[in-house]
Amino acid sequence: MTAETGASAQIRYETPAPHVARIVMARPEAHNAQGLRMTYELNAAFDRAAHDDAIKVIILAGDGRNFSAGHDLSGDGGETWRDFGTVGTWAGFDAQGAEARYGREMEIYLEMCERWRNLSKPTIAQVQGKCIAGGLMLAWVCDLIVASDDATFKDPVIDFGICGVEFFNHPWELGIRKAKEFLFTADEIGAAEAAAHGMVNRVVPRDELAAATLALAEKIAAKPAFALKAAKQAVNHVQDVQGRRNAQMHAFSLHHLLHAHNELIYGMPMDPNGLPEAVRDKVLARVARAKAAKNAAG
Ligand code: ZN
Repeated sequence: MTAETGASAQIRYETPAPHVARIVMARPEAHNAQGLRMTYELNAAFDRAAHDDAIKVIILAGDGRNFSAGHDLSGDGGETWRDFGTVGTWAGFDAQGAEARYGREMEIYLEMCERWRNLSKPTIAQVQGKCIAGGLMLAWVCDLIVASDDATFKDPVIDFGICGVEFFNHPWELGIRKAKEFLFTADEIGAAEAAAHGMVNRVVPRDELAAATLALAEKIAAKPAFALKAAKQAVNHVQDVQGRRNAQMHAFSLHHLLHAHNELIYGMPMDPNGLPEAVRDKVLARVARAKAAKNAAG
């Protein structure tokens, strides 16, 4: 096995078996919360695995107790979009009104997820513990999901006045009725229930998760690479001709209508009343700082 760590160490790139890359979110102290740095390092790691002809299957894993706490709302440690190379073409990140947020979420959420979903090679999410909100998007962009028996999945953003996470794949993952229940209640579902609805491929004991995921990856990696790519494209195309992309774009527009609605009412893109207390205080403090800086600037 090889393991390499970049300067920031938020993503680790490993090759645990021939033809298999394992991309590991390495922020366990933050439950692998996904800020800008992790997003762009993740994208670079996916690109690296995609561009390496020796790699046939890619695992996405997370260090620690939980797979992902979702998007990091704590402010990216002062880093901004200027610290990273823009991948998409939407831009307008300094614009007024709704334009900047729409452009940024298009860049770092919707189009990044679409890019990862369309990556040419089979991908497997290895999910343990909690997989919340933006964390769902990371699992969903993968072709297969192997979950430990303690894994739970939850999209709580309706509590914050939003209609679902940006990469709106809920109906495709859970079916129409379960997707509605999942969204309306913001209840978490366990790995076994997620598997029953077709969202999860396999549920294994926690201490066997890494080995079971790797064994599945190795089994797939023994197949012809081009045929794997073609099989993936063929299945993805089924969803696409069924209208997945159009439906997601519609949901993304509604998502941004709600961001704008919350901005008008609360002065921030979500309803702060639904946030957990610790996060709410941080977010409110950041909004107040940003407003003060804007006022001071004139
Ligand atoms: Zn959003």
